[in-house]
Amino acid sequence: MPEKKKKKVAKKTCPQCGSTNVVYNRQSRDLVCNDCGLISPVE
Ligand SMILES: [Zn+2]
Repeated sequence: MPEKKKKKVAKKTCPQCGSTNVVYNRQSRDLVCNDCGLISPVE
């Protein structure tokens, strides 16, 4: 049977609004939500 690899953070989602319209800022190492504007730092 086909085995799907599931990563814990396969798809980044906004913890505030749940949107997947988030981008990763490599310079500041932050995730920025394009929907609500939330900026959350990534480990
Ligand atoms: Zn958001």
